[in-house]
Amino acid sequence: MLNIILLGAPGSGKGTQAEQIIKHYGLVHLSTGDIFRAEIKAGSDLGKLVKGYMEKGELIPDSVVLKELYRRALLHKGSNGIILDGFPRNIQQGQMLDKLFRKKKIGVSLAVCLEVPEDELFNRMLLRAKIQNRPDDTEDVIKNRLRIYRAETEPLKEYYKNHHKLIEVNGYREIGNVAASIFDAIDEFVRQHRIG
Ligand code: AMP
Repeated sequence: MLNIILLGAPGSGKGTQAEQIIKHYGLVHLSTGDIFRAEIKAGSDLGKLVKGYMEKGELIPDSVVLKELYRRALLHKGSNGIILDGFPRNIQQGQMLDKLFRKKKIGVSLAVCLEVPEDELFNRMLLRAKIQNRPDDTEDVIKNRLRIYRAETEPLKEYYKNHHKLIEVNGYREIGNVAASIFDAIDEFVRQHRIG
């Protein structure tokens, strides 16, 4: 299995690049943000639980996220692989993921991090707010989301770097060029680590 974690600030293009990677390698897409947005839309108990956190741009408690992710990730054991988009969001989640995957004999193959300058992230998210009408894309919430990314999620880069699993890609380019760089980096990583 080729299991990929997609890291990057909100607005760095994780969703867009996840689509490209899935098409290219035939992976299953698991986006915790998409999962929770669907639950809110459906008006489920889980949706009601997470709505307030998402509207403020805060992280949903680890216990809630992990339970959902475990349930869904295990459904896809035996597929070509999974791409995790929006998870893990902090070191604790990263450690829990490693533990779960170890237990189930699934490996995290590599983490791809999209790098985009801060002012570009901000502009992209403002634009997305207009197009998609996401309640967590107002100016104050965007600032909060970026702040939380730097404080909680960015340290995961160091975590995966220490495990020799990090690939950093310049995400401030045309979509096809970013995708091509990601494919090259993944192929090289797979060759070096003999992932089947
Ligand atoms: P995203 O679509 O990945 O930007 O996520 C949107 C929002 O969903 C985040 O701002 C959080 O409120 C929540 N969320 C998504 N994934 C996670 C996660 N792994 N841990 C905690 N909260 C999350």
